[in-house]
Amino acid sequence: MAYDFDLFVIGAGSGGVRAARFAAGFGAKVAVAESRYLGGTCVNVGCVPKKLLVYGAHVADELEQAAGYGWTLEEGHFDWGKLIANKNREIERLNGIYRNLLVNSGVTLLQGHARITGAHEVEVDGQRYSTEHILIATGGWPQVPDIPGKELAITSNEAFYLKQLPRRVLVVGGGYIAVEFAGIFQGLGADTTLLYRGDLFLRGFDGSVRTHLKEELEKRGLNLQFNADIQRIDKLDDGTLKATLKDGRELHADCVFYATGRRPMLDNLGLENTGVELDERGFIRVDEQYQTTAPSILAIGDVIGRVQLTPVALAEGMAVARRLFKPEQYRPVDYQNIPTAVFSQPPIGTVGLSEEQALEAGHKVQIFESRFRAMKLTLTDIQEKTLMKLVVDADTDKVLGCHMVGPDAGEIIQGLGIALKAGATKMQFDETIGVHPTAAEEFVTMRTASR
Ligand code: FAD
Ligand code: NDP
Repeated sequence: MAYDFDLFVIGAGSGGVRAARFAAGFGAKVAVAESRYLGGTCVNVGCVPKKLLVYGAHVADELEQAAGYGWTLEEGHFDWGKLIANKNREIERLNGIYRNLLVNSGVTLLQGHARITGAHEVEVDGQRYSTEHILIATGGWPQVPDIPGKELAITSNEAFYLKQLPRRVLVVGGGYIAVEFAGIFQGLGADTTLLYRGDLFLRGFDGSVRTHLKEELEKRGLNLQFNADIQRIDKLDDGTLKATLKDGRELHADCVFYATGRRPMLDNLGLENTGVELDERGFIRVDEQYQTTAPSILAIGDVIGRVQLTPVALAEGMAVARRLFKPEQYRPVDYQNIPTAVFSQPPIGTVGLSEEQALEAGHKVQIFESRFRAMKLTLTDIQEKTLMKLVVDADTDKVLGCHMVGPDAGEIIQGLGIALKAGATKMQFDETIGVHPTAAEEFVTMRTASR
């Protein structure tokens, strides 16, 4: 049977755009439907605008350091409206680039909400299209717990478009987004409190990293409240938000920001018309080749809930395009040793196993850990410490994990990701000549095991 398209991609985000472009490049007839914004979460309300706001907040650090380097600066003034307007202009530019990327690669772009109406049929704005394969790449959406007053809270989606920088912010959650936005709000001058329901935030990260970041954030004056969770939110007559915690405490703020995880975006997608099953967490169930339980339907990216990172969605999109239209080039995505950064202030960079994970996996580990004040701070009064840590298998000498908290951690960890992928040993780290003077050289000069 002749279909309108070989591949119909739902969602022009990180994964969908990558799959569509490469499939078209391999000669397939491809359509992409996008209901909201080209480039998806990452470009519009994720990685990109987030990093721009992080840069904005970081300027405060640079200004603080300037005095040590002989600079006398007049008192600075920060204009939130200007930062957001500039950020919006850049996002619009990127939206245009994404449009060109798709159109120039021969993909048919359909702007509208897509709903699957059959195993080989998708409807967009009342128009039905037939297709051999359907790729669901619809991403995720912020999830706020169902508490009284939840409608008074905002999520990352709204934070990027706030008219003003709130004076007092409560950030709820202890994952990537909570920690990053706490740094943004606080760095830009808001009185910020982070509330996390457990003993220590960033569950799953290396224990030394979590403790170190906690100490550094507290040094910066961020109010960290662990074992704290909001029971209800009320709006007072003067517009102030009152958060009542489960332990009875009351906190007042101008903004309550929730970052308590993301659910898969399946709204009105028409899955009831398909044999697509969800897993126990509600994400789309796929096999190792992104095949759902319906033979003609695949899914990638945040909607499958594996690793919610843009480079992972890109790799999955590429794998699907190859698998369907260039099978001789197909290579499975390697989920081992995915480097990642949390753009907190200071940032975290990490790749491989944490000390806890290595022990749990049965490794006999050697730990190399270093804490130092970065050279750049030596002419300033700032007492921030950088942490670097290597987790090494004591039997094979293989480096199992590299972890850092400190300036440029995300930049530094990318290269170490390659080393770990290549199976580097501690001896090879030691034999690598350092780049001097940098902070990164510490990763190749840690000679004595801490434990
Ligand atoms: P998305 O990029 O979410 O794209 C899905 C697209 O599908 C959307 O454009 C949506 O509008 C569209 N869509 C949904 N339903 C339909 C429908 N029925 N019809 C038509 N279109 C539809 N990752 C990093 O690697 N680094 C970071 O620094 C980082 N920072 C982040 C910061 C924040 C605040 C957030 C929220 C996320 C961040 N991420 C980061 C995660 C990253 O954004 C996601 O992992 C990535 O965007 C997932 O790509 P995706 O293709 O699965 O989905
Ligand atoms: P995460 O899953 O990373 O963190 C969610 C946090 O919210 C956890 O601390 C969790 O606690 C807590 N939480 C969950 N449910 C509740 C609840 N009902 N009440 C109170 N607290 C709750 O999600 P995020 O929203 O921070 O980010 C989503 C994903 O986006 C990330 O996992 C990451 O993959 C991606 N991302 C990547 C970034 C990067 O690469 N720099 C930046 C931002 C996002 P607990 O640990 O106890 O379960």
